[in-house]
Amino acid sequence: MTQAPADAEARRAVAPVICYPNETLPVPDMALYTQALEGAEVIETVLAAPREACSFRVCTGQFFRITSVEGPQVGDLNLWNADDLSERFYSGKTRALHGTHLTTGERMWSAFPHLRPMATIVEDTLGWYGIDPYGGSVHDVIGTRCDPYTGNLLSGSQYHHCCHSNLIRALADATGMSLAEAEPHVHDVLNVFMCTGFTRDTGQYFMKASPVRPGDHLTFFAEIDLLGALSACPGGDCSSEHSSDSAACHPLQVEILAPREGALEGWQAPARNGYDRSHGR
Ligand SMILES: [Zn+2]
Repeated sequence: MTQAPADAEARRAVAPVICYPNETLPVPDMALYTQALEGAEVIETVLAAPREACSFRVCTGQFFRITSVEGPQVGDLNLWNADDLSERFYSGKTRALHGTHLTTGERMWSAFPHLRPMATIVEDTLGWYGIDPYGGSVHDVIGTRCDPYTGNLLSGSQYHHCCHSNLIRALADATGMSLAEAEPHVHDVLNVFMCTGFTRDTGQYFMKASPVRPGDHLTFFAEIDLLGALSACPGGDCSSEHSSDSAACHPLQVEILAPREGALEGWQAPARNGYDRSHGR
């Protein structure tokens, strides 16, 4: 134990400042998106089977909607630029910009050097949940994705249906890559419908039974052409454990919706980040 200095309490009492005040972030035109969604039609539906992942493609200006069907289930979502897999979702920066959990009006941002919105949340039927007394909330960008390496590290297991492996198989099937080629493209996820937080006393990552019920959904506007992969986590509603076949699991549905012709009149897809990349040389 280190010895606390005499002014320890005074130092602890310093008020925090927000790291990235987001008032200057480009504001999505939610009225336009909402209106476009109202007239949009479902053009494709895919299903992520329990403990499996599905992939899907969404064109710029279309929507995709993830819906809980049959029973409470959380999903792990990866997004890539459909034409350039190096541009992929950046969970850490999205967390820095929007906070630990995402909801309507917030965006999934892409990795450097692109750093632009890939998708904007336009509907969240769990938006009512807010932050519970444990500090838990839904749709987090704090967890990573369940994976077989951590399971092996902690318990010596060889389990093949963690979200990490499910996403690898889905990406390999979608692109023709081998599993070894696909693996480095799989990245930290948006934990759709998952209810998580950090314990106050030990700062540990926790999960609890998701409040999601069949019919609940999260709908996104595609800011760029997207390839997505969604894993129906082996943790089911994540009320007890993951990384095994013991939890009750359900499918997740993904619908692709196309807006009516002209519904996005005047809208422009976001440009890549404007930093000149000279890095001081
Ligand atoms: Zn998982």
